[in-house]
Amino acid sequence: MQNTDITIVGGGSAGLTLALLLARQQLRVVLVEKGPVPADAAPGTSATGAQPEYQRVSALNMASRALFTELGVWPGLLSGAAAYTDMQVWEADSFAKISFAAAQQQVEALGYICDNEQIRSLLYQQLQQHSNVQCYFEVGISQLKQGERDVMLQLDNNELILSQLLVGADGVNSFVRQHMQLPLTHWDYQHTAIVAKIRCAEAHQLTARQVFLATGPLALLPLPEPDMCSIVWSAETDEARRLMALDNTAFNQALCAASHSVLGPLTLQSERQAFGLTMRYASSWQRGRVVLVADAAHSIHPLAGQGMNLGLMDVAALAQLIGEQQAAGEDLAATTMLRRFERWRKAEAQSMIITMEAFKRGFTAKAPLAKLIRGLGLVAVDRLPLLKQQLMAHALGLKGDLPQLAQQPVAGADV
Ligand SMILES: Cc1cc2nc3c(=O)[nH]c(=O)nc-3n(C[C@H](O)[C@H](O)[C@H](O)COP(=O)(O)OP(=O)(O)OC[C@H]3O[C@@H](n4cnc5c(N)ncnc54)[C@H](O)[C@@H]3O)c2cc1C
Repeated sequence: MQNTDITIVGGGSAGLTLALLLARQQLRVVLVEKGPVPADAAPGTSATGAQPEYQRVSALNMASRALFTELGVWPGLLSGAAAYTDMQVWEADSFAKISFAAAQQQVEALGYICDNEQIRSLLYQQLQQHSNVQCYFEVGISQLKQGERDVMLQLDNNELILSQLLVGADGVNSFVRQHMQLPLTHWDYQHTAIVAKIRCAEAHQLTARQVFLATGPLALLPLPEPDMCSIVWSAETDEARRLMALDNTAFNQALCAASHSVLGPLTLQSERQAFGLTMRYASSWQRGRVVLVADAAHSIHPLAGQGMNLGLMDVAALAQLIGEQQAAGEDLAATTMLRRFERWRKAEAQSMIITMEAFKRGFTAKAPLAKLIRGLGLVAVDRLPLLKQQLMAHALGLKGDLPQLAQQPVAGADV
C-alpha cells in the first residue's frame, strides 16, 4: 500500500503537466497511465537524435507557452516547433476572408505548432527529476473507491494507492468520469477530422491557413520544414469516409483542390488518421475527493485549435488552488476549493464551447443569405483592427481569467 497526496489518472499533456506542477510544490504524486512511457521525441535529447514525427500536433497559444516556460520544457519544445506569424481564413466559393498577423498583435508569433508526443516526452523528462513523483505506465485500474478521508485506487498489478485527492485526466472517454457517474452533456459534431502530414510544392511561409468548405474546415498548419504542413481536415462524416477510402493519389488531388492550390500540389507524407468529433461537457466536474480536468471534463471541435490550451489552463488553475490549500495547511480536496476550481474553469470551457458552436454553425449554414451575411461580417471584422485585436487576444491566451503561471510576460523570449 502506498500513501500519497495526489493521484493522477492519465498521462497525456494535462496529466503530465499537472504532475510536474504538483511535484514542484513538493507534494507526493502518483501518476497512472494505461499506455506506454512517452516516446523520446525531443530533438537533440533522444538517444537516436530523432526529430518529432508530427503525427499529431497542437497549436499552442501564449498562455501555454508561458506555462511551459515556467516548467522548463519550452526551449526543448520550441526547437521542434513552428512559430507561425500569420493566419489566413477564408470561405470556399465566397468573398469571405480574414487575415491576422503577429506584427499587428505586437507579438512574435500567433501560435506554435508542436508535436503532441514531444510535449509528453519533454514533460516526462522533467518529471523524472522529481523523486516525489511515481509514474506507473501500462497499468489498468481494477478499483476506485472513496471514503471520507481518502481515495483508494487499486491497479491491476495489485498496487494499492491511497491519496487525499484523485484527478481524472484520462481523456475524452474518461474512466474516472464514468466510474464516478459524473453526468455528461454531449453532441455529435457530425464531423470527422482527418489528420496527416503533407509536403507542399510552395513554402508555407509560417502561415497557418484554414478554408471553410461546404462540408467543414480544412486547416494547413505549418511545420518547421518550410515545405511541410500538418492538415486537420474536418468533414461531414460521410464525406470524411469517402476521403479516407481514396488512394493516396486521389486524396492528394482532392486535398489540393480543397485548399484552392494555395500551396500548390500537396502530397501525403504519413498515414491518414481519422477522429470522430464530439462535444463533451461534464455538468459536474467533482464529487467528494475526485475531480476532472481537460478532455475528461470537456472536449471541443478542433477548428480553432484550443482544446489542449484549455486543458493546460485547467491544470495550472487546479495546481494554483491546491497550492493555496497547502500553504494554509488545509485539506487538498476541500469541497470549497474543488467547487471554486469547477466554477472558474467551467466558465472558460463554456465560453469556448459556445464560440466553437457559433463558428461551426455560422460556417456550415448553406443558405445564400447566410453566406452573404458571414461574408460581409468577416470582411467588416477584417477592416476593424481593434475588434480583430480583441478577437485574437483571446485566441492567443493573452486575455481571460488565466492562472498565475500562464500570465507571465513572454516579451523578449526567443521565437
Ligand atoms: C484532430 C484534433 C486536432 C486537435 N488540434 C488541437 C490544436 O491545434 N490545439 C489544441 O490546443 N488542441 C487541439 N486538439 C485537442 C487536444 O488534442 C486535446 O484537447 C488534448 O490532447 C487533451 O489532452 P488530455 O491530456 O486531456 O487527454 P489525452 O491526450 O487524451 O490523454 C489522456 C491520457 O489518459 C490515458 N488514459 C485513458 N484512460 C485511462 C485509464 N483508465 N487509466 C489510465 N490512463 C488512462 C490515455 O492513455 C492518455 O494518455 C485537437 C484534437 C483533435 C481530435
